[in-house]
Formats: sequence, structure tokens, C-alpha cells
Amino acid sequence: MADGPMTEPFAVGIERLRTEALAALGSIGDTTALEAWRIHYLGKGGLVTEELKRIGGLPPAERPAAGQVINDLKRVLNEALDVARATLEAAAQEVAAAREAVDVTLPGRGVDIGVAHPLSEAMARIEAIFVELGFTVASGPEIEDEFHNFEALNIPAHHPARAMHDTFYLDSGRLLRTHTSTVQIRYMEHHKPPFRIIAPGRVYRSDAPDPTHSPVFHQIEGLAVGPELTMGHLKSVLKTFLQAFFERQLALRLRPSYFPFTEPSAEVDISCLLCGGSGCRVCKNTGWIEVLGCGLVHPAVLARVGIDAEALGGFAFGMGVERLVMLRDGVPDVRLFYENDLRFLKGIGTCA
Ligand SMILES: [Zn+2]
Repeated sequence: MADGPMTEPFAVGIERLRTEALAALGSIGDTTALEAWRIHYLGKGGLVTEELKRIGGLPPAERPAAGQVINDLKRVLNEALDVARATLEAAAQEVAAAREAVDVTLPGRGVDIGVAHPLSEAMARIEAIFVELGFTVASGPEIEDEFHNFEALNIPAHHPARAMHDTFYLDSGRLLRTHTSTVQIRYMEHHKPPFRIIAPGRVYRSDAPDPTHSPVFHQIEGLAVGPELTMGHLKSVLKTFLQAFFERQLALRLRPSYFPFTEPSAEVDISCLLCGGSGCRVCKNTGWIEVLGCGLVHPAVLARVGIDAEALGGFAFGMGVERLVMLRDGVPDVRLFYENDLRFLKGIGTCA
């Protein structure tokens, strides 16, 4: 309390104001209430200013002491205000820091790395092997006409082979190609021999899905045309390819077969990947597994695209990509390739 003569009521009023203001400050918990407090007591129209105005009504002798008391009150309240503001700000910072805190012991969010589909991976591998053997990659349409899918390949109307193909026909009279052999014809129509090509792609057959059938699957067709090409060349290319694909030494066996567009024709067997030839459940105790079909290009097929079958010959082969991957990775069901189960696609289950 300031020294000097002054009326008791004034000093008491100031003391009560100070007690009340500090008590109110003590219960404030946020900056909005703090600002309201400041305006209420220290603002231009606040209670402290009101007290200052009252000094004019005091006897002149008391005014200096009264002014001193109010200035003391202002200083005390301003200091208390600063302390309260600093305390609130520190608390707010602590809350924000807690909210933004990084818990380094939490497990990270998993980011899956994409992988190529097993069939895409296999086709890229197969292409790479044949490119090393001097083949180029060709392609053709999936919607075909009867000429390229059948007639040019020596399969005329009513030929029994047509029934075996279970073809999807479109309203336009066109069809979804039943084999990639169509690309042989399309390539020979526009290129002069000699050449060596492979044609990977989707093919379609009206088969009900089961563990070994799918209405859509993938084939890779191979064709070489040039002078003096023999079954020996064909067997050598296929053995080189199959050993590279399966990454092991294999025995190869050609069994006579029949395809309308090759003559002679053969099915190619490899020594069983599981038992090596001694006989097991996979090879049905024969020691051999059939992997593809092949042959020398039929002279009628060459003639239809204007190639002189007397001067030039060729060999062709076709294989199912799904079948090769199933054999290599032990995939038990062709439908797994189309069901998009990530456990399978990431490689879990391919060795089931
Ligand atoms: Zn076997």
C-alpha cells in the first residue's frame, strides 16, 4: 500500500479490485478468456481505467498517492497477465508437440512393390531366349478371319481339326483366334524369307474352365523359313530353348503326330522335370512330359502365301505359356493365373 494521506474507501476499493482480478486470472484456462480478462480489467474502458478517472474527484493532496496506488495495481496486473500468458502458451506448445510426436517404435506402413504377372514374366523370358537365337518378335490381331485362322493353315471348311478348336465366332463372321499360328500367315504375306520369328499372344477357345483349361490362354508360335531347314534344325532350336527356359539339361523326344499345317508333325516330350525320367506321378510313370507341338511347314501353307516350296522350307512350333509355367513352377491349376489372388501373383503358391 502506498504511503501518504488518502481516504480509506479508495485504497480499500483498489485492494479489493486487485484481489478479485488476481483470483479471476487464476481460474483462466485459455487465451480467449485471458484476452477477455485483460479487456475487463486493463482495457480502455476497463475497471482500472475507471479507478484512474475517479482520481479527479479526490482532494488534490490525495491525488499523487492515489495515482501511485493505481499505477502499482496496473503494474502488478500486467505482470500477472504476462506470466499467465506465458504459462498458457507453454501448455499449448506441449499439447501440439504431443500431437506431432513421432513414435519410432510403431511399425511402418507397408508399401507393396508390384511384380510382373507370372505369364508376362514368362513371355518376356521366352522372348529373350529366342531373340538370342536370332528370332524377331511378331504380332497379329486377336480378332481374326477364317482365312488366316483356318484356310491358309490348310484347315478347309469341314476339316475335322476345326471341330477340335471350339471357336468363339463373332456376329460379323469373324472369330477370336484359336492359335497364334495365324501370325505365321500374316508375317509370310508381308515378308520375304529367310526369316525367323516368334509370335506370343492370347488365344481363345470355348472351353469350360477347369484345372487344365481356360477359355483364354497364351501361346507362343515359332516360324523359320529359309533354304534347307530340317527337323534337325528344329530339334536343336527347341532343345536349346527348353534347356534355357527350365534351366537344366533335358532329354528331348519327338513323337510323330498330326497338324494340318506341318508335315511331318511331332509332339515334343522332355524328360520329366520331377523324376528325371525314372517315372513318377507327374509323368504318369512314363518319364516324359509333353511340352509342345512342331513340324516342318506344310508345302500347301507356303504355296498359299506365294513362297516357292521347292526352293525353300521351314519349321514351325507352338507352345502354351501357361503349361510351361505350370510345369516349371508346379502350379496345380491354370485358373490361378486369372483369379488375381495376390498371394499367388507374388509367388506364394507357385511352388505348391
Ligand atoms: Zn516323372
